[in-house]
Amino acid sequence: MRSGLYTIVAVHSTTRGPSLGGCRMWGYEDARAGVLDALRLSRAMTAKSAVAGLPLGGGKGVIMLPAGTRALDPSRRREALLDFGDTVAQLDGRYVTAEDMGTSDADMTVIAERTEHVAGLALERGGSGDPSPWTALGVETAIRVTCERVWGTGDLADRTIAVIGLGSVGGRLARALTADGASLVVADVAPAKRALAEELAATWAAPEEALLADVDLVAPCALGGVLDDESVPRLRCRAIAGAANNQLAWDAIADRLHARAILWTPDFVANAGGIINISVELEPEGYSAERARSRVLAIGDTVRTVLDMAESAGTSPLAAAQDLARQRLAEVAAPQA
Ligand code: NAD
Repeated sequence: MRSGLYTIVAVHSTTRGPSLGGCRMWGYEDARAGVLDALRLSRAMTAKSAVAGLPLGGGKGVIMLPAGTRALDPSRRREALLDFGDTVAQLDGRYVTAEDMGTSDADMTVIAERTEHVAGLALERGGSGDPSPWTALGVETAIRVTCERVWGTGDLADRTIAVIGLGSVGGRLARALTADGASLVVADVAPAKRALAEELAATWAAPEEALLADVDLVAPCALGGVLDDESVPRLRCRAIAGAANNQLAWDAIADRLHARAILWTPDFVANAGGIINISVELEPEGYSAERARSRVLAIGDTVRTVLDMAESAGTSPLAAAQDLARQRLAEVAAPQA
């Protein structure tokens, strides 16, 4: 251990292939909180990859910073990344890492000094580069299909959409939706993002106002947990689809949304564009942006499948997506005839 920091890897499933999930460099109160986060996120990665039909399992990495630490100095950061690389190397391919909150493609290059089981390397290094544009493209596609279900058309020209969080994904999504003709309400905790609101002629709002705005669809693209017992009864939108992971405070919220006839497209279905792009890097032919694009656009078909399953079973889209994940895991787990 060079850095003295905990480096954690959770492998939830290798049923469909090596477990893949980003490396999160984040501050935690204690080691238990870091381990719990890795476990919870690795489980979500299993469902995300299975629903997208990828030959990947679910895993997640955490480099645990002391609570309140915003960034390490460059030499300690490098040490922490090399330590994490050693942890990944010990798993001998059962876990493949990539970028996540707090890490970048440049960090993946450092981790790659210690292990070959790294994806999401920079484009110059033959990798798939920044996943965010692909996540944004997948979310835009999921929004179109969600709208198609509610209003009978995926044309966004008459739609009003609230985008909460204008970061790497939300900022790109807001630009794309504006280009598609939608009228936007946008929110971010960073006041500097107001410039983008002005550029797009979008209405700027506080995050909670945007969540509860009288719009057609809300796209949560910042933190998870925004849909809970407090917010759901006050929502005024008809549909929700966005990039943020773990949007529901807990699973039963899906039933409350269903009961209110608010169509929620599960986050792990809508936001799979980044992992789909990374999976293309692992294909025998190597990375190709063209192949990545067609695979990411196929999220539209997956959303249709999930919403069809939910409709015919009379369940929430979450229950349907979880069913689809289970089916896709069972397909490969079943003994060959
Ligand atoms: P980011 O850090 O680039 O952007 C997040 C933005 O949200 C920032 O502008 C930040 O100021 C803002 N924000 C933070 N707290 C907020 C709050 N309470 N209300 C409103 N705005 C707030 O992150 P990102 O890469 O754009 O990812 C956004 C979400 O999508 C995260 O939940 C992430 O886990 C998820 N996600 C991202 C990807 C990807 O490819 N980047 C893939 C799948 C899921």
